[in-house]
Amino acid sequence: MSNAFYDFTGELRRLEQDNLYRYRRVVDGPQDIKLNVGGRELINFCSNDYLGLANHSEVAAAFKSGVERYGVGSGSAHLICGHSSAHHALEEELAAFTGRERALLFSTGYMANLGVISALLGRGDTVLEDRLNHASLLDGGLLSRARFQRYRHADSADLQATLAVTSGKALLVSDGVFSMDGDLAPLPAMVELAEQHHAGLLIDDAHGFGVLGKNGGGVVEHFGFSQDDVPILMGTLGKAFGTFGAFVAGSEDLIEMLIQKARSYVFTTALPAAVAEATRASLRLLQVESWRREQLQKLIRRFRQGAKQQGLHLMDSFTAIQPVLIGDSGQAMVASQRLLEHGLWVSAIRPPTVPAGSARLRITFSANHTEQQVDALLEALDKALS
Ligand code: PMP
Repeated sequence: MSNAFYDFTGELRRLEQDNLYRYRRVVDGPQDIKLNVGGRELINFCSNDYLGLANHSEVAAAFKSGVERYGVGSGSAHLICGHSSAHHALEEELAAFTGRERALLFSTGYMANLGVISALLGRGDTVLEDRLNHASLLDGGLLSRARFQRYRHADSADLQATLAVTSGKALLVSDGVFSMDGDLAPLPAMVELAEQHHAGLLIDDAHGFGVLGKNGGGVVEHFGFSQDDVPILMGTLGKAFGTFGAFVAGSEDLIEMLIQKARSYVFTTALPAAVAEATRASLRLLQVESWRREQLQKLIRRFRQGAKQQGLHLMDSFTAIQPVLIGDSGQAMVASQRLLEHGLWVSAIRPPTVPAGSARLRITFSANHTEQQVDALLEALDKALS
C-alpha cells in the first residue's frame, strides 16, 4: 500500500522486539477453572471471576429467562427506550446492597469511570489520582480537562502535599484494590483528607466489590466505612459478579447529575436486560454464599504460604490478585510460556499496564479452584522460575 498512513509494520515490529506485543488466545467453551484452548485443557489462573459465578447454573438460568422475557438487545440508550424493569430492579438492589440512595448502571467499568469524572469536573478543577490507578480512571481524569495531578502509589503523605496546592473543586480518585498489584488504597487517610479539604472521593472497587468484607461489600466494608465516608462508589459486574457492566452508587443528587451529564451514560446503548437479570442472580448468590469468599481466602493463604517458602517475589496483597514480580518483560513472557507447558494459564503483565521494569505474572484465584490446583501452581512456578 502506498499510503504511508497505513504502514504500521515499524511500530508493530518494535513492540515485538521489546517483548511488549500482546497476543490473544481463543477459548472454546465457558469461562471456568478449566479452559479449552485449541483442544487443550488449561487451568485458569488469570480470570477476574473471583467467586466462580461466570458459569454458575443459576446465573446462566437467569440470563436465559431474561432473554426470553426481554429479548437480546436493549434497543437504545437508557434515556431513550432502553431502560427496562430488569435494569431498574438491579439498580435498586445494588443501591440497597451498598447502603446508598441510588445506583446507576453503566455498560462497562471503563465507561463508568470516564463518565463520572468528566461529569463532575471541568477546566479549573483538580483531579488527584494514584499513579497506579486503572487506565480508565486516568483517562477519565484527562478527558475531564481538570488539572491532572498524580500522587505516589498509596502514599497518603504525598496525596496530602498534592491536595495542599489544588485549585477549584478537587476530586480524589483511586482503585480500591489495585488491579495489577492486589494491594489496597489507604482508604482511612483518603476519607479523612477528602473531608478536611472538602474534596470529592471516588473509589473504583472493581476488584474488591463482592470479594472483600464479610458480606462482600468490598473495600468500604473491609475498612468499616459507611456510604457517607465514600460518597462515590464505582463497582464492576464483570469480575466477582461474573457477568458484565458496571455501576456507580451514591446519593440521589449524584445519580441524577450523572444521568444528566455523564456522556458515556447518555450516549451509549444500555446493557442487554438479560445481563441485568443474570447480575441480579449473582447478587443474590454472593450474599447468601459467603463460603465463596471464605474459600477464596483459604486458597490465597495457602498460595502465599507456599510461595514464601519457595522464595517467590510476592507483593503486599491478601486479595485474589497475587502477582509474582519478575521485572524484565522477556523473562515474564518466558515464565508464562513455561507455565503453559505445565497446563497452567497465567498472564505475563508488562508495560504500559505496569511501570517499566516491573513485569510480573498476575496470578488470580477463584473460589472454584481446589487446593490441589494451588499446589500444582506452586510446583510449576518452582520449575518455571528456576
Ligand atoms: N477499573 C478497574 C480497576 C479495572 O480493573 C477494570 C477492568 N479491568 C475496569 C475499571 C474496567 O471495567 P470493565 O472491564 O467493566 O470496563
